[in-house]
Amino acid sequence: MAEESTVVPDTEENTEKCRCPDCPAYNECMENEGEFFFCSRGNTGCKIDKRGCLCLHCPNEIEYRLNSFYYCEKGAATNKNVATKIL
Ligand code: SF4
Ligand code: SF4
Repeated sequence: MAEESTVVPDTEENTEKCRCPDCPAYNECMENEGEFFFCSRGNTGCKIDKRGCLCLHCPNEIEYRLNSFYYCEKGAATNKNVATKIL
């Protein structure tokens, strides 16, 4: 069994694609902490008001075949929760 590891590399290119700063759930606390790109960098310590998540419309979600959302709460996407189906 493979070790659990994160799947979205924290590169400049991927960082630029992240939709979190435009998301309805993104808030001042996250902004002040400089936090976003949660599928790669892990969850926030800020309180989350779940008013929608843009991850399902994000190019990184599609490219890395992620199948979840609200990574700001759940933490980084890992090889254990990536879609195994052929898209
Ligand atoms: S992980 Fe989803 S809900 Fe959280 S800030 Fe990013 S787009 Fe919004
Ligand atoms: S899937 Fe969500 S957390 Fe990951 S880069 Fe896209 S918007 Fe950001």
